[in-house]
Amino acid sequence: MASQGIVEEFLSLKSDTDADVLTMQCGDFYEFFAEDAELVAEELDLKVSQKSSHGSSYPMAGVPVDDLTPYLKALVERGYRIAVANQFEGADGDHYREVTRVVTPGTLLETDDAEARYIAAVVGDVDNSGGGVDFGLAFADATTGQFLVTTAADVDAGLSELHRFDPVEILPGPDVRGDDAVTRRLRESTEATVSLFEADAFAPGRAAHALREQFGRETLDSVGIDEDAAVRAAGAVLRYVEETGAGVLPSMTRLQSFESSVHLELDSTTQRNLELTETMQGASDGTLLATIDHTVTAPGRRLLQEWVTRPRCDRAELTRRLDCVDALASAALARERVREALEGGYDLERLAARTTSGSADARDLLAVRETLEILPAVAESIDGSPLSDSPLTGIAERPDRAAVRAIREELDTALADDPPKTVRQGGLFRRGYDDELDDVLTRYAEAKEWIDTLADREKRRHGLSHVTVDRNKTDGHYIQVGKSVADQVPDRYTEIKTLKNSKRFVTDELEEREREILRLEEARGDLEYDLFCDLRDRVADHAELLQDVGRALAEIDALASLATHAAGNDWARPELTAPGPLDIEAGRHPVVEQTTEFVPNDLRMDADADGAGESGGRDFLLVTGPNMSGKSTYMRQVALITLLAQVGSFVPARSATIGVVDGIYTRVGALDELAQGRSTFMIEMQELSNILHSASADSLVVLDEVGRGTATYDGISIAWAATEYLHNEIRAKTLFATHYHELTSLADHLDRIANVHVAVDDAGDDVTFLRTIEEGPTDRSYGVHVAELAGVPDPVVSRADEVLERLRGDEAIDVRGGSESAAGDGHQVVFDLDSGGFRTEASADGGATDREGSRPSTPSADDRDEPQIDPAAESVLDDLRSVDVDETPPVELLGKVLDWQEELDGDG
Ligand code: ADP
Ligand code: MG
Repeated sequence: MASQGIVEEFLSLKSDTDADVLTMQCGDFYEFFAEDAELVAEELDLKVSQKSSHGSSYPMAGVPVDDLTPYLKALVERGYRIAVANQFEGADGDHYREVTRVVTPGTLLETDDAEARYIAAVVGDVDNSGGGVDFGLAFADATTGQFLVTTAADVDAGLSELHRFDPVEILPGPDVRGDDAVTRRLRESTEATVSLFEADAFAPGRAAHALREQFGRETLDSVGIDEDAAVRAAGAVLRYVEETGAGVLPSMTRLQSFESSVHLELDSTTQRNLELTETMQGASDGTLLATIDHTVTAPGRRLLQEWVTRPRCDRAELTRRLDCVDALASAALARERVREALEGGYDLERLAARTTSGSADARDLLAVRETLEILPAVAESIDGSPLSDSPLTGIAERPDRAAVRAIREELDTALADDPPKTVRQGGLFRRGYDDELDDVLTRYAEAKEWIDTLADREKRRHGLSHVTVDRNKTDGHYIQVGKSVADQVPDRYTEIKTLKNSKRFVTDELEEREREILRLEEARGDLEYDLFCDLRDRVADHAELLQDVGRALAEIDALASLATHAAGNDWARPELTAPGPLDIEAGRHPVVEQTTEFVPNDLRMDADADGAGESGGRDFLLVTGPNMSGKSTYMRQVALITLLAQVGSFVPARSATIGVVDGIYTRVGALDELAQGRSTFMIEMQELSNILHSASADSLVVLDEVGRGTATYDGISIAWAATEYLHNEIRAKTLFATHYHELTSLADHLDRIANVHVAVDDAGDDVTFLRTIEEGPTDRSYGVHVAELAGVPDPVVSRADEVLERLRGDEAIDVRGGSESAAGDGHQVVFDLDSGGFRTEASADGGATDREGSRPSTPSADDRDEPQIDPAAESVLDDLRSVDVDETPPVELLGKVLDWQEELDGDG
């Protein structure tokens, strides 16, 4: 094709794809032209040259064919979708190009880190106003073939599910796209690339068809995804994977559907607050995952991450994991043997996907073989050890061992020990694998042998010294003879070149052998390529088996990792019970204990505790104590211990009884978060709202200084009302750290609330944080103490103490040194809880407000009280307040009530 045509061909292909960038194969290079060339030059530092075409000049940049992968990766990481057009030869020998693949974040197969790369489709049934399921979600990992579907009841649940999977690419369905609010939250809550895939693919009929084609009708029925939204999401993902041309559909062998209820609910804020896989600063060091990860393989690490971000609620599965961890933790030697056996295993799930997509080379198949060998080795190290009584045996026996052996043996007899990376030039197979190939190899060896020994033969035959036989690109095979003897060569020799000290010759015989060698080399390459493709296809037919083995090895690796950490850090096996109690003895924070001399603490929460004469149950703890005393750490430690127990891990405690929770919700007050540059009071309230909507009686709620992001009295009011609501309506297990001392009095009135505080030793000049949690509220303000330590003059400190005391007691405070006209001698002010300001005692009617008495029962009741009260009601209220119930006879009381009703009615 004329070179002018190339740019036009490029531009025309580009206009037919919706990818951001196109790269087109031109011989040994992939080229980018025009805008795309400028873009890659800018993003990837590629050098741009100019290409002229039809009188115009176009920027052009290119990379060698074999080097495309790193550039694809880099572009995808920057969020681009790249179309790849490959070159083909037409019947007439002309070259033409076609887009064969669109590489997107979710369909990039060439990845070498262990993390899952999910592509997610989200379908919202926006019209479904009758409640029920509103969201369908499907997750596919094109690199491993994992395929999961689920549903969520509302936007919040849908988004937290998404956050848990942390996809790299999201396909919002048409209805989600049409909803601006949901779209905005989608973009805010994830770093994934949002791709707008054709609306048709989400249509129920087409989606169901795609699913049946892929997984079979029976699977669809038995897995039980009959929710429209889930089917539509799953169908769309399948179509997308197919259309982008990654070729991995066959590795998606299994449709897994899960109910969100088997997983612990963890909203995105909680995942961030608890620093499960990323710290607040965005690092991976110092996270829970990094701390407990001792896996020895990439798939093991990937599975452990899955467990940590998706803890479970079903005790049967958790007990199975705990039994394994228990066995592994107490058998150090056997554990080390298992881990050694696992080491060196490759990523079978990824390899399975590569065999099905046809991108696996001989080294990949070798990696498959080596990893399949690990399974029996691991099984053996379990069998003859103390581990043999544990459910580990079952994991190792899960994959079909006979089938595994068959593949292994086939690969063993087929593949050479050190095959090349390319699959087209031979060298892949062992002798004895294929008769035809053996024949070619034998003839090839003979021809080679003939050539290799030619120099010696010629020397002997013609008495020539200085003879060598060699081969190069331009001359092919030749006989090289030193100049001194060059005139003694026989007539059969044809001279082809004269060099400074020698001459090169060929003979008919040599040329014939050379042709034979070329023929055989080509035949060998073709034959081996065909054999290889067959072999790869046969392995691909067992993709599901490879995935099973990969998954089993990953599971054993993850369990051994949990056991290793438990054994090394003196963790204890938690006792899992039905939802209810949380009882932790000498608990520690799993991450902080790594770097700090940690002071362990207990926790006891139980709604039904008999209380032995006390207030009854306690499942709402108000945690008080000065700044930096350890409140946040204590609460996080409780959340993390609960979470670890529901991962199936041992926990950092002397002992722990964990009533399984259905969700963990945390909220850190805006001030702490503001320091991280993330939050506003609005967001703090949105998250509080989410907790109050989503948490249940079986949830664990951690509120850390909530309400702090606004003015004091606003903050107290919100904290107060939220406490009542959580205690009375939701009845969730709650830990609430607060510096609002006022809240501690709630414990006297609400029966399941208890106060605890962080103990402090302030006997000397210094405040020493003891880090020990004790019963009861804190009894003093450390703010004033800190002012004293900072050298604030004594009179100010003692006066501050006094004012504080009076504020706490809602007593009037005299204003010292005020002028006659305002609040002169004897004048006092009272801090008014309702207005949040001071008023002078003279204008105060009825003295100090009785805080307990005016406590709002619910937030909404509070709101209704706030607006102006009409005069009739006001006088009824005054009357009501002044009645002394103890002194008034019942009949008179009744009469009064009737009067009040009349008065109120008359007005209405
Ligand atoms: P608060 O929330 O009360 O302001 P933090 O929980 O943030 O306090 O803890 C303050 C510091 O004390 C942190 O550096 C933390 O690592 C340390 N700390 C907290 N609890 C303990 C403990 N039990 N043992 C040792 N150090 C602790
Ligand atoms: Mg704190």
